[in-house]
Amino acid sequence: MPCLYGLFDERNAMKKSPRTKKLEETLRSSRLSGRGFLGDDRRSLQEILDADAKQVQKLGYTARQIAKRMQELTEAARPGLGDWVEVSENLRVWADDSRGIIACPWAHAFRANKTVTTVERLDTGKTIKWADLSIHLIAEHGFFQGRGSYFRLEPSELVEIIF
Ligand SMILES: [Zn+2]
Repeated sequence: MPCLYGLFDERNAMKKSPRTKKLEETLRSSRLSGRGFLGDDRRSLQEILDADAKQVQKLGYTARQIAKRMQELTEAARPGLGDWVEVSENLRVWADDSRGIIACPWAHAFRANKTVTTVERLDTGKTIKWADLSIHLIAEHGFFQGRGSYFRLEPSELVEIIF
């Protein structure tokens, strides 16, 4: 479903529309997700989106490619029902079975399960985790969340682990 507030529709970063302001308030509030989606990041939503978009481009990927790979790994993890699943020689994944759903803060009709996927790279020992909603936020909104938020994903770390 196309999103009214999507990253790619946000042409005018200088002037915040009331809708953008409202979205930013929602993302900062802790009501939805522990420390909110922005954590203690002092940057504006647009600054966060722009900086991560630049990072992603520099890494040679698109947000959708990254999200697609995350989705594959999450799907690979699900049948494990709380146990590690070996995906390749160097990669294993694990999905928790937490219940409940969470709505996309971009005020459109998207809901995600609260499942959390953990990915471990066996050659480096590095791990990273994300919620189902994180995949949608990256694919549809180019949003990797703010620094200090529970599910902040640094594009460089993410790419290093999952590809
Ligand atoms: Zn959304």
